[in-house]
Amino acid sequence: MTAIDSDAFVFFGASGDLAYKKIFPALQAMIRRDGLDIPIIGVARSGWTIDQLRERARDSLEHNGGVDEAAFAKLSALLRYVDGDYNDATTYANLKIALKDSQRPLHYLAIPPSMFGPVAHGLAAANCTTNARVIVEKPFGRDLASAQALNRTLHEVFPESAIFRIDHYLGKEAVQNLLYFRFANSFLEPIWNRNHVASVQITMAENFGVQGRGAFYEEVGTIRDVVQNHLLQVLALLAMDAPVGQDAESMNAAKLQLFRAVRPLDPKDIVRGQFVGYRNEPGVAADSQVETFVALRLHVDTWRWAGVPFYIRAGKCLPVTASEVRVDLKPPPMDIFDRARAHEANYFRFRLSPEVVISTGARVKKPGGTMHGESIELVARHQLRREKSPYERLLSDALHGDEGLFTRDDCVEAAWRIVDPVLGDVDPVSFYEPGTWGPAAAAKIIVGNGGWHD
Ligand code: NDP
Repeated sequence: MTAIDSDAFVFFGASGDLAYKKIFPALQAMIRRDGLDIPIIGVARSGWTIDQLRERARDSLEHNGGVDEAAFAKLSALLRYVDGDYNDATTYANLKIALKDSQRPLHYLAIPPSMFGPVAHGLAAANCTTNARVIVEKPFGRDLASAQALNRTLHEVFPESAIFRIDHYLGKEAVQNLLYFRFANSFLEPIWNRNHVASVQITMAENFGVQGRGAFYEEVGTIRDVVQNHLLQVLALLAMDAPVGQDAESMNAAKLQLFRAVRPLDPKDIVRGQFVGYRNEPGVAADSQVETFVALRLHVDTWRWAGVPFYIRAGKCLPVTASEVRVDLKPPPMDIFDRARAHEANYFRFRLSPEVVISTGARVKKPGGTMHGESIELVARHQLRREKSPYERLLSDALHGDEGLFTRDDCVEAAWRIVDPVLGDVDPVSFYEPGTWGPAAAAKIIVGNGGWHD
């Protein structure tokens, strides 16, 4: 069944940081690429006028990719503005007027999650939810219980099929390619299991700190910020069984099955770190125990993966900014050539950012009389030209009712169940110097398997 397109785009939080950095650039791109031509209504409590919203949009584009004058003129013409408090029924009455003839609006809640409930109910009371869709931003809850509560709140107003939970990582070209590569090639499937895979490492490194957002980070930490969502989604795409189709239901069913097989984290399988200097950031407590780094080991209890450790490492103030997956294969069974080095070479590497690369590590013979070899990589480099940004892709999908890249309620809850036991101060953080790969204690998470690949 083909979904029906939304006929108006409403974004709450029009004066906010996310709108500035991501939403205006995505809207301009959608106008330019796809000829988006529906009312675009910004809602905020800032007391702005429509002209101030247009100025904000221009400023946003100037700082985030550039202004395309023709597309911007179109955006300006499509823009409307509704001002008001999100707890005040008048705001929604005014929105209803601004929506005019719209029968199927898409509402984007680019606001703090504490406001999702009041806004959803305000929309319903003003009759703005019939046939509507809603996009909600991360973080989706702080733990399993709050995610369940948030789902209940949204379900009071919207059916699950109308709720689009954004994880912008799923909109990335490289992450989609991971899924494609796995299931479009027959050579992987025979080895993609415990018989041939020794271990898997997922790394997400940033070489910067909290960039003035210390107060925000104090409420979050690395597990909530990137592990529960982005990195567990990557793990699901890597480890799940083949979905029966590419529709959203099949994808989510395959992911859910995988998440349910991942053992909830045991405190002994995780090391939390904090970079030296974090406690001096504005908005950060002098005795903060919030992690800015995490190294952890997951166990996937399926026939395919039993006994294969999945390692995740993520953090701030690390030596580089890069995201990568490495799947290490078991070494050849016999020591004919230089076996001691075989574990270095037999692997698949998926570089997700900054560049998109898929490569296979292999050993080849060095020219000469002896049977000695060297490690090489067979590399497929993906040329990113003018692909859609994750936000352009995801907003466009939501407008078309395509749920494939959005996270379903049960999948979100299943992912929280994995990290729930280690949220909070299970153990004190270990400190690390900025520019290093986290605290020394992280080494104890990997025993054997060649250690962490930096
Ligand atoms: P902001 O703090 O910039 O606020 C967004 C909007 O929410 C603003 O319009 C703000 O209005 C309004 N707002 C803030 N607090 C309240 C409140 N108590 N009651 C009513 N309105 C309020 O947030 P962001 O734009 O950074 O983030 C929006 C959402 O997107 C959040 O859920 C965030 O977690 C998520 N997100 C943000 C990312 C980012 O890069 N910024 C990345 C990924 C997700 P006013 O300006 O009047 O205060």
